Amino acid sequence: MGRFIDARSPEGGLAVDPSTYDAICVGAGYAGATVARRLAEDGGMRVLVVEMREHIAGNAYDCPDEAGILIHLYGPHIYHTTDERVHEFLSRFTEWDPYEHRVLADIHGTLMPVPFNHASLKLAFGEEEGERLYAKLVAAFGENVKVPILELRASDDPDLARVADYVYENVFLHYTMKQWGQTPDQIDPAVTGRVPVFVGDDDRYFPQATWQGMPHDGYTALFERMLDHERIDVALGQDAREFLEVGEGELLVGGRPYEGIVVYTGPLDELFDCDLGALPYRSLRMDFETLAMDRFQPVATVNYTVSEDFTRITEFKNLTGQKLEGTTTIMREYPRAYERGCGMDPYYAILEPANLELHRRYLERVSGLGNFHPVGRLAEYRYYDMDGVCASALELADELLASA
Ligand code: FAD
Ligand code: UDP
Repeated sequence: MGRFIDARSPEGGLAVDPSTYDAICVGAGYAGATVARRLAEDGGMRVLVVEMREHIAGNAYDCPDEAGILIHLYGPHIYHTTDERVHEFLSRFTEWDPYEHRVLADIHGTLMPVPFNHASLKLAFGEEEGERLYAKLVAAFGENVKVPILELRASDDPDLARVADYVYENVFLHYTMKQWGQTPDQIDPAVTGRVPVFVGDDDRYFPQATWQGMPHDGYTALFERMLDHERIDVALGQDAREFLEVGEGELLVGGRPYEGIVVYTGPLDELFDCDLGALPYRSLRMDFETLAMDRFQPVATVNYTVSEDFTRITEFKNLTGQKLEGTTTIMREYPRAYERGCGMDPYYAILEPANLELHRRYLERVSGLGNFHPVGRLAEYRYYDMDGVCASALELADELLASA
């Protein structure tokens, strides 16, 4: 790490004057750290990264727990991408350990691959009937193809409708109700489309990824290297809203007009005290448990698609490949609605027309400011994976550097 500033000066607030920097990045996740690195390295700018948590890496943060197991504090993060530029950029800051994510669904006690595939079909319907139904799926859609559940449900053929009903009921309905509080038909089709039925034998969660793996020393170490630059300073434990305001047609830092660049990666409504209304998010409670055993479950993640209040259990050693005998840490995810000011984190944007419209109205409020740039999963109100955020941040950096 270059220089971590102690954000808490004796008087409170920042120990440095943010207005003396060429750029301020609010948030030290993928969005903020990527832009910070590019502006410092390729633009020769002095950049201040301000992060309200006590650590860098945003939701990708990982750290050892008391048992010495590397856990992902904000949920299991599996790196996967088809974007060569993103992969090249991130690979400057880490080596990758080979890892292919596989998920099993616990369906009435039987563990079946998800995305639902040829093997799942045989487990659900028996060997012979499963093969017969598989042949019908292949005849209808072809082999090694992905079919979103909502598309499968539209088929008229009674056999295919039977498969669709089974998958809808046993894989999607209850899990989606838990995760979103709504049925699969009520939410944006792209969300369930992330986990299509797979007509084939591939049982990987991200079969389309050109690159997937786990950062060799963890995500936090990746971010330490990304932010380790002589022109980047990082201030932890500091809410940027304490010094940053959107004024009438201009940005104010410490109450005075600021003409440097501001890259903002937090929720947009929070900048305005939600005065147009609060942007809704889904949140999660994550319960960690350390158990005295070598291994709890056969894969990193098991989804509970027909039972339980939690959606999934992740066993971290199965993700990272960490070797530690006689102890393992698991984590259960309990979805809930996000409420401000209650110590929750806004994890998932809820992609409904009214929410997107509200987000657009907040965007409009900042669009006239030439030097304020919202980017990332929160600020763009998007369902981005890590690589999508990094790609968006690299593009923003290109634009900022081109007009510098
Ligand atoms: P964040 O990581 O949220 O970073 C934003 C940062 O800004 C935060 O640290 C926040 O504290 C800070 N901030 C906000 N407001 C302020 C303020 N006013 N002042 C100072 N700081 C502020 N992606 C994958 O590719 N693979 C996965 O397997 C995967 N699993 C996931 C599992 C879960 C449960 C979740 C929630 C997400 C998962 N993701 C996964 C998505 C991934 O976490 C995000 O795409 C990525 O981390 C978003 O980066 P970001 O920089 O946009 O936002
Ligand atoms: N989903 C489901 N059952 C599963 C897996 C996923 O119903 O076993 C649905 C659910 O609506 C979920 C969405 O598909 O929110 C996307 O799943 P993904 O695993 O991509 O979610 P994430 O890892 O981003 O939470």
